[in-house]
Amino acid sequence: MGQVSKSYITEEEWQTRCDLATAYNLASLFQWTDLIYTHISARIPGQENRFLINPFGLHFHEVTPENLVKINLEGEILSKSDYGINPAGLVIHSAIHSARPDVGAIVHLHTINGMAVSALQDGLLPISQAACHFYGKIAYHDYEGIAVHKDEKQRLIKDLGSKNVMILRNHGFLTAGSNVAEAFTKMYTLEKAAQVQITSLSMGLPIVIPSEAICEKVVEDTGKRGIKNAEIEWQALKRLIPSKQESISLQAKLKPASLTHLTKKPSLMQSQKVDQNQRRTANDRPL
Ligand SMILES: [Zn+2]
Repeated sequence: MGQVSKSYITEEEWQTRCDLATAYNLASLFQWTDLIYTHISARIPGQENRFLINPFGLHFHEVTPENLVKINLEGEILSKSDYGINPAGLVIHSAIHSARPDVGAIVHLHTINGMAVSALQDGLLPISQAACHFYGKIAYHDYEGIAVHKDEKQRLIKDLGSKNVMILRNHGFLTAGSNVAEAFTKMYTLEKAAQVQITSLSMGLPIVIPSEAICEKVVEDTGKRGIKNAEIEWQALKRLIPSKQESISLQAKLKPASLTHLTKKPSLMQSQKVDQNQRRTANDRPL
C-alpha cells in the first residue's frame, strides 16, 4: 500500500465519487464484471493529478462513494482505505490520466463480448449503427501480458493517441471521456456493438457492410450530439440504481449550510437520509 495521508472532501470530489460508484454498480447490474478485476477511474476536478479507483478486493456492486480509493499518478494512496489497488489498474489508468489531461474518466472491462472481439484480427466491424459510432475512432493496443509493468505505459499512450476508444487485443475494451457519464455511455454503445457483431457472425451468413461514406456520416451526426446526449443518458442510467440515485439527488439538493434550515419537518425516513447526507457532505470529513 502506498503513502496514506488524511485529506478532505470537496463538493466536486464527492460528486465524482457518487458518479464513479454508480458506474461500478451499473457495470455490476449489466453483468460486465470479472470477479474483482478491471477498473473504472475518474480524475478529481480541481485535483488534476489525483484520481479515484476501486478498492482491490471488492466486487463492483460493493463499491460506494466512500470506499473508492484516491491515488496520485504514482499510485500512492491518499485516502484512508482498508484495501489496496490493483497494480494493473494503476499502470493503465495512470498512464492515460497523466498523458491526456482532457480525459476525466476511463472505463476498462473484460466483458465476454469485449474480449471476444478483441481477439479478432479485424477488431470491431462497422456492421451496426452502434459500431458505426466508432468508425475510424478506435485505437488498438497489442497484448503484452498482464498490464503490471510500467514500461507498457508509453506504448499504451502512443497507441491511444488522441482517441477515446481502445481495443486491447486479446484482453478487452477501454473507453475514455471528459467525465464518468461520457466514458460509461461510450462503453455501453461499444459493448452493444460487440454483442451485435458476435451474434451476426454466429449466423454464418453473408454480412452487409455500409459504405465508408455512410459510416462517416454516422460519426458526424453522433458527434454533434456528443456530451449532451451522454449527460441525458447518464441521468437515465442513474435511475437504475434507485437507492444510490436517491442519495445522490439529496446530496445535490442539500448543501451542508442549508441542512439546519430545513423548513419542512422531514419524516423519519427522510430524517435518516438527511443524517446520512449531513455526514457525507461535511467538508471536514476525513476519508
Ligand atoms: Zn484488463
